[in-house]
Amino acid sequence: MPGKLLLITVSSPEIQRIRRSRFLNFQQITMPYLAALTPPDWQVEHVDEEVGPADPLARADLVGITFHTPSAHHAYELADAYRARGIPVALGGPHATLLPEEAAAHADAVFIGEAEDTWPQFLEDLRQGCVKKFYRPSAPPSLEGVPQARKDLFIRRDYTGGVLFATRGCPNTCDFCTLAVMYPNRLRRRPVEEVAAEYASFRGKVIIFWDDNISADMHYAKALFRAITPHRKWWSSQASVRAGQDEEFLELAARSGCKQLFIGLESISQASMNEVGKRFNRVDEYARLIERIHAHGIAVQAGIVFGFDSDTPAIFDQTVDFLEECGVQNATFNILTPFPGTALFRRLEAEGRILTRDWRKYNGRAHVVYLPRQMSCEELLEGFQRAVRRFYSVGSIRRRLLRSPVQIGWALPLNLAYAFALARYGL
Ligand code: SF4
Repeated sequence: MPGKLLLITVSSPEIQRIRRSRFLNFQQITMPYLAALTPPDWQVEHVDEEVGPADPLARADLVGITFHTPSAHHAYELADAYRARGIPVALGGPHATLLPEEAAAHADAVFIGEAEDTWPQFLEDLRQGCVKKFYRPSAPPSLEGVPQARKDLFIRRDYTGGVLFATRGCPNTCDFCTLAVMYPNRLRRRPVEEVAAEYASFRGKVIIFWDDNISADMHYAKALFRAITPHRKWWSSQASVRAGQDEEFLELAARSGCKQLFIGLESISQASMNEVGKRFNRVDEYARLIERIHAHGIAVQAGIVFGFDSDTPAIFDQTVDFLEECGVQNATFNILTPFPGTALFRRLEAEGRILTRDWRKYNGRAHVVYLPRQMSCEELLEGFQRAVRRFYSVGSIRRRLLRSPVQIGWALPLNLAYAFALARYGL
């Protein structure tokens, strides 16, 4: 059976426009990692739609597609086109895991959750002609001894020198987050020495850990930071506010080359944090946490979400005021998006507030897909756009970057890229 396996990292035209315009274009790891789990008698090609579109007429003996919710429509179109030509299609990734029955209408096999064990099993089933419709791991696969993602399939032209993961999942269960559905077994860890060996194998200087929350297990994180320090690279990852509460974590992170942490602040409204099960985010501690992170020379990229039930139209300016006062280097702003399968989606659906199931609109940037509590959809969208424009205005960039003690070498290019992109795409 083995022949040509076409792996596609899908990105819809709408998402490409948003991503490009927002300079959020890091190399994705899923398909290069899946390729590494594939027996060598398959000839693997990776098409990453952030680089160029997939060809529905491409020659292949098997197609695998990974996709997020806003790209589902496009992923299904592609899958239908390949299947119409008799090519078997396997669908996986976040949206297929959230809605496997929906994905099944467009696939020969649907992968639910982690694929370390199920992908090789599927390929063997395919060889023997007994493919099943759904592949779901019966137990959490071991992350010990997993292969390194195939670097020859990293094809994006971004500024990173390598991407990898150390942990998977998060022990928290914020009700708007898809991780509780994606990884119900909570936090998983790779052996530190295996992560350090992969980290060292990259020739580039700037490394991204694709971890959901690298501060989820402090003991593990500190051991990892000690192990990667000798390699003298720069790295960035996502973390919770707990990263700013632990001096030793920050000290070891900085010494190992951490230049920026994406911190899920989400909101400067404590009522909003309480409402979505994220009470451990203590809003009155934010300024001090940011100051402590900055004191270690680490830039902060704040993850901000607008549209919680406690948010009023005042939240937009209040948020940017706060981020400027703290000298936050970067921020990723999102409109609250209730992804299917999450507790948030179920609650809003029960309240009759879900406005559309057109997944293309579940992009968090260009559409409001539910009825906000204290403002109209238009006010939410307009307020979000105003906050983004204000945060990446020249005046704000100057105020923020001059206010913190962090060197601007990392933060300034990112800010300028955001500002140019906003001007170019008229957002
Ligand atoms: S802390 Fe972050 S990653 Fe973890 S469940 Fe909450 S939102 Fe998701």
